[in-house]
Amino acid sequence: MTVRKETRQFKTEVQQLLNLIINSLYSNKDIFLRELISNASDAIDKLRFKSQTSAEILGDDTELNIKIVADKEKHTLEISDNGIGMTYDEVIENIGTIAKSGTAAFLKALEESKKQDVLTPELIGQFGVGFYSSFIVADKVTLITRSADAEANAAVRWESQGDGNFTVEETVRDARGTSVILELKKTEDGEKNYADEWVIRSIVKQYSDFVSYPIVMDVEKTEPVPEKEQIMGADNKPLATTRKVKKTETLNSMKAIWAKDKNSVSEDEYKEFYKHISHDWNDPLTHIHLKLEGATEYTMLLYVPSKAPLDLFHLDRKHGIQLYCKRVFIMDDCKELIPEYLRFIKGVVDAPDLNLNVSREILQQDRLVRNIRKNLVKKMLDCFAGMEKEQYETFYNEFGRALKEGIHTDWENKDRIADLLRYKTTKSEDKLISLQDYVANMKPDQKEIYYITGDSLATLINSPHLEQLKEKDYEVLLMTDPVDEWVTMALTEYKDKPLKSAEKGDLELDKDEAAKQENGYSDLFDFIKSHLADKIKEVRPSSRLKSSLACLAGDTHDMSAYMEKILKASGQKSPETKRILELNVSHPVFAGIKNLFDKDRDHHSLKDYSQLLLDMALIGEGGKPEDPSRFSKIVGDLMFNALGD
Ligand code: ADP
Repeated sequence: MTVRKETRQFKTEVQQLLNLIINSLYSNKDIFLRELISNASDAIDKLRFKSQTSAEILGDDTELNIKIVADKEKHTLEISDNGIGMTYDEVIENIGTIAKSGTAAFLKALEESKKQDVLTPELIGQFGVGFYSSFIVADKVTLITRSADAEANAAVRWESQGDGNFTVEETVRDARGTSVILELKKTEDGEKNYADEWVIRSIVKQYSDFVSYPIVMDVEKTEPVPEKEQIMGADNKPLATTRKVKKTETLNSMKAIWAKDKNSVSEDEYKEFYKHISHDWNDPLTHIHLKLEGATEYTMLLYVPSKAPLDLFHLDRKHGIQLYCKRVFIMDDCKELIPEYLRFIKGVVDAPDLNLNVSREILQQDRLVRNIRKNLVKKMLDCFAGMEKEQYETFYNEFGRALKEGIHTDWENKDRIADLLRYKTTKSEDKLISLQDYVANMKPDQKEIYYITGDSLATLINSPHLEQLKEKDYEVLLMTDPVDEWVTMALTEYKDKPLKSAEKGDLELDKDEAAKQENGYSDLFDFIKSHLADKIKEVRPSSRLKSSLACLAGDTHDMSAYMEKILKASGQKSPETKRILELNVSHPVFAGIKNLFDKDRDHHSLKDYSQLLLDMALIGEGGKPEDPSRFSKIVGDLMFNALGD
C-alpha cells in the first residue's frame, strides 16, 4: 500500500492570518491553550452527538477527556482528545484553509486598505482562528489525528513551522482522536514557560475551568514512602521519607456554569465561558441567565456578542445555541431553539426533560422545544428593550440588520421588534430615534408615518420628494439599509399609524390644490407623456414638490427605485417599473414651458424640455440622466441661448 504524503502551501489567507496572529497576539499568548482546549472539547461534543445515533462509534474508549502532556526537558506541550478526529481530507480542509466564510474577503479588503497595523486582537478574534494561535508559542506544530470513522488505526499527521508550508501524510494512531504537539519557542528569562505544570494549571483554571470534559495532566506529586519500601542508610535512618510520583490529575472543575446559582458566578467566569462556547475573543455585550422551575424546567444562559461576526449574513453560518440535557451535551448549532433573526445570540440551553435520543427532525415538533424557543425569544427581546441607551446603540449597530428580519418572519413579536427599530430622520440626522419617539413628535394634523429609502443619508435628506413634507414640518424616517425595504413591506403600520413612502402614491397633502392645478395642464401633460411614453407611466402635478421642478414617484404598491437598484446590484432580474413623472406646476419655469406650449405646440424645444424634466427628476433622487451626453448637450444649448441674450 502506498502511503500518501505531500507538502502543500497554505491558502494565501491562512498565511496572511498566521503572520497577523503571531504579530498581534504576543501580549496575550496564554489564549493558545484555551483555543486548543476548545477545539478538543468541540471534537468530543461532535463525537457524543454522533454516538447518540450510532453508539458503536465510542468503542471501548468511553472515557471522554482532554489530556495535556508537558515535557520540560524536550520543551514540548501536547494536547490530546479522544473526540471525533479528522480524515486526511478533513485535515486539509480544516487546517489548510479557513473555513469561515467571509474571512478571505475581509482579509483582502484589509490588505487593500493597507491598514494591517490596525488589526487588533479583537478583530482577529472574529475570525475564529483558534488552531493557528499555537504558532504564537510554538516553532513547530504537529497534529496527529484519527477519525472516528477511520479503518483500523489509519491516521493523519500534519506538520508545519508556520512558514507557508505544511506537510500531510498518512500515519497510524492507536486510538481515535487528535493530538496537537507543540515544539515550544525558546523562552527568555522572565517569560512564561508553557511546559511548566503551574503555568498550565493556572491557564486552564482561568480559561477552561467549566469545560464539560475532564482536562487531565500527569503531574508530579510528592508522597511519603511507605515504611516497607524505605531504604535504610548506614545510620539506620531511611534515605528518603518522601518521593516524587506521577499522578493523573483533573485540572478543571467541570462545573457547568449555567447550572450554578447566578450569584455564585463572577462576571469573569461568565465572560470566559462565553469565549469558550463562541470562539469569539471579545467580551460579550451582555448576558441573561435564567432558570425556569415548575411544570417545565430548563435553564438558559444566553449571550449577546459585542461584535457581529463576519459571516452574519452568510447562509452557511452556524447558530449559536448549544443544547444540553442534565449537563450532558446534546448538540450545538441548535437552530430549532432560536429563530434566524436572532442567530447571533450565543449560549446554552439545558432541558432536563428532553428525550436524549432526539434527532433534529424530531426537535422541531417537540412541544418542550417550541416552548423554550418561544420563551427564549421573549427574554431576548426583553433584554434588548432593557438595555441602556449606549449599550443599545452598540447592539443595534452590530445586529440591527439581522433583528429587522424579524419584522418579516416573526409575526407574533412584530410589534415588539418594531419598538426596537431605530432610524435617523429629517429632524434627527445624527441621532437614531425610535418609532415611538417619531409618533410622539407627529404634528396634530399628521396621520401617517413618512419614510424614504435610499443608499445614502445625504441624498435622502436633500431628496425633492421631501419638499412638501418639510414645508409642513413633518418628520421623515431616512432608511438607508437595504433590509429596510423588506421592513416596510411587512410593517405597514405602527401604533395604528400607517407607514407611508414619501416617494410612492399620492401623498394627499393639499389634495384640493393639486386637483385644481391639474385643470388646464392636461394637454401639456399628454404631450410630455407621449414623448416619454416608454420611460414613464403618467405625468401629473406633484403633491410633494416645493422648490424642485420635477420628481419621479411610484404607485403605492410599486417597487421603489432603491429596491430596483438593490436587485440589479445583486444580479437579480427585476421588472422595470415605470414611474410617474410629477411636475411642480407652481414653479416659474413650468409656467414658461406652458406658455411656449400654448403658443406653439410644435416648438422644437418642447421635446428637449420634456426630456430634461425627466433627467432632472432622476438627478434629484441621486440617479443619472438617461443619456448623459444628450443631457449635457441640451443644457449646453440652453446656457448658450441664455448667455446670448
Ligand atoms: P474553529 O475552531 O474556530 O472552527 P480552528 O482553526 O481552531 O477554527 O479549527 C478549524 C477546524 O479544524 C475546526 O472547525 C475543526 O473542524 C477542526 N479541528 C480543530 N481541532 C480539532 C480537534 N482537536 N479535533 C477535531 N477537529 C479539529
